[in-house]
Amino acid sequence: MAGSLYIISAPSGAGKTSLVSKLTEKDSRIQVSISSTTRPKRPGEEDGINYVFLSVDAFKQKVAENDFLEHAQVFDNYYGTSKSVVESKLAEDKDVILEIDWQGAQQVRKLIPDAVSIFILPPSLKELEKRLKGRGTDSEEVIERRMSDAVNEMKHFNEFDYLVINNHFDTALAELHSIFLANRQACAKQYEKHNVMINELTQQH
Ligand code: GDP
Ligand code: ADP
Ligand code: 5GP
Repeated sequence: MAGSLYIISAPSGAGKTSLVSKLTEKDSRIQVSISSTTRPKRPGEEDGINYVFLSVDAFKQKVAENDFLEHAQVFDNYYGTSKSVVESKLAEDKDVILEIDWQGAQQVRKLIPDAVSIFILPPSLKELEKRLKGRGTDSEEVIERRMSDAVNEMKHFNEFDYLVINNHFDTALAELHSIFLANRQACAKQYEKHNVMINELTQQH
């Protein structure tokens, strides 16, 4: 039995981390893959909880050792998804979320065509800027850089299977959860899980 892989992308500040953290609280079958990054730690972030924080050299070493399922440069930093961690969680029948950018999403889609991809949009650019400022974790310069990259990131929305607009938080959370619930009932997945029962039901007497 194996879980499914989900890709969630959004411009910085759209709310993906808040939505994903509530979703994993609500549904224990869903787990997030902790990425590695070379960006500086924000106040309140912990190594191994939010990210595995690496030096550029250590990151490049992992790339050379083929440890990443995907990796990309986002803003001026490197980010990557650990292959072994994702594989072991999927084998435990967990639904695994990758919170990655559109470049990483393209790489994962090629490797794992069954991955379900979801893009999260903010309701407006003004609101996106308000959220980035309100989060209080980034300097004015970093926020400007993220805002200027946001439009380019959002241009990739139609490469994704689902689109969730994060206007009202609880509505967006319910919409996001519904994608996981529906995907679990896919015929092939249900057959994999319940094949004994289904074979009994469909046997000719
Ligand atoms: P935040 O999105 O504003 O919280 O800022 P972060 O610095 O945490 O992430 C910046 C960007 O990097 C986002 O677009 C993430 O989706 C992306 N990102 C995070 N982890 C990974 C990863 O493992 N791989 C790739 N390709 N992108 C990642
Ligand atoms: P991301 O991970 O996409 O960069 P975050 O989850 O860090 O985004 O959210 C950015 C900020 O916006 C946070 O301060 C968060 O509390 C806030 N936020 C998230 N969703 C909403 C929403 N629906 N309405 C208002 N603020 C939101
Ligand atoms: P966190 O900041 O830990 O991600 O979220 C803390 C709380 O804030 C949660 O209860 C979550 O529902 C709520 N939350 C986070 N962002 C928003 C938001 O933007 N709007 C609303 N209404 N609630 C939010």
